Amino acid sequence: MSDVYNWQLGRPMSYPYEAAYPRQQFAFVFNINRCIACQSCTMACKSTWTFSKGQEHMWWANVETKPYGGYPHNWDAKALQLLEEANPGGQTWTKGDGKDPGAPYGKFDGKTVFEAAENLLVPDSSRVVGYLPTDEEWNSPNIWEDNPVGPRGVRNELDKEGVQLPTHKTWFFYLARICNHCSYPACLAACPRKAIYKRPEDGIVLVNQADCRGYRKCVEACPYKKVMYRGNTRVSEKCIACYPRVEGTDPESGGQPMETRCMAACIGQIRMQGLVKLKENGAWAEDRYNPLYYLVHVAKVALPLYPQFGTQPNGYYIPPRWVPRPYLRQMFGPGVDAAIERYSLPDRELLAVLQLFRRSNLIIFRYEIKEGPKVYEGTLNGKAVTLYNDTIIAYNRDSKEIFRTTIEEPVHVRPAQHANSI
Ligand code: SF4
Ligand code: SF4
Ligand code: SF4
Repeated sequence: MSDVYNWQLGRPMSYPYEAAYPRQQFAFVFNINRCIACQSCTMACKSTWTFSKGQEHMWWANVETKPYGGYPHNWDAKALQLLEEANPGGQTWTKGDGKDPGAPYGKFDGKTVFEAAENLLVPDSSRVVGYLPTDEEWNSPNIWEDNPVGPRGVRNELDKEGVQLPTHKTWFFYLARICNHCSYPACLAACPRKAIYKRPEDGIVLVNQADCRGYRKCVEACPYKKVMYRGNTRVSEKCIACYPRVEGTDPESGGQPMETRCMAACIGQIRMQGLVKLKENGAWAEDRYNPLYYLVHVAKVALPLYPQFGTQPNGYYIPPRWVPRPYLRQMFGPGVDAAIERYSLPDRELLAVLQLFRRSNLIIFRYEIKEGPKVYEGTLNGKAVTLYNDTIIAYNRDSKEIFRTTIEEPVHVRPAQHANSI
């Protein structure tokens, strides 16, 4: 085991390999507040990469209804329970003030999937605490869709007055998931064949199909359960981050880095994916006007999924506003309250950056805001709100404009003679 720095945990942690970082990292932000569970993302991936014999059960992209849904069933509850058993009562955070860039959410005092493995009497090959889901758990990927939580301890009943912010009493939300192309991948750490690698050019994590022998150590180790075993080829497979698109080698890309299929298909416009620059020590290099850098490190509205697992996932989520905070803190860490407060009353820059989602399939490397006139003044929940019709401009890797859009949507008033026509 070596010591690596995990900025999401605000501390060094043990990892089976020496630290090694790519030049830039594949990363994404999903805005949960907008997901409608249409599953277009799920089907875009399925129809592109996993439509062959032996892949029927594979959903590299999936959308599950929380808290009950999960693919495989109960993946997160089981991973959390294993860590709790390894470190009873110790899986806690010390909340920070958000000022230290090396510990933006505070410090995690518990054990990660790598550290918990050191305490357990497991074979040496098990470098990660995990479990192998059963075949039944991989069945019914969309089980419990739209099933809400009602009053505590009462089955099959909804709370009659449950829909008031700040948190609803009757609630659920949609969690869209793909592989997080982690900075410290558990799948890679566990592979006895060294068949899993992280690409130095973009941090995408891939399984070398020629070297894999189907031991399924990666399936067991990934706490997000995003590696899947294929029975007819006897090797493991996972999300490949649509790398031809990200490389700009897809015929449609015109040579420019393009967002993945599941991002491009998103009807709810909840997804933005990009490539972020890394420093030599693996921290994000300051890139103030990269939208992902802004959302994660400046506005801090987008948070990692289960950072306590310790893999430093590169998937970030704007948490849903209506969900009880203890549940969200467990899922996204102690940055949840500040993120929801900021998202609920966005400032001028955040409101503009939120307009960038899904206006183009090309990866946005930089944005610029041109100030517009004041269009609204009022209050929201007792706080002052002023809206400006600013224009935000998105640029590609070569600093060419991809598109520009305004805060206010264009309004078209139908002429009187067409008032009733469609
Ligand atoms: S999410 Fe799982 S499969 Fe993907 S890189 Fe991380 S550990 Fe590996
Ligand atoms: S990035 Fe590509 S391969 Fe990965 S889940 Fe999305 S569509 Fe599938
Ligand atoms: S396509 Fe977008 S809105 Fe639809 S389920 Fe997927 S993430 Fe949610």
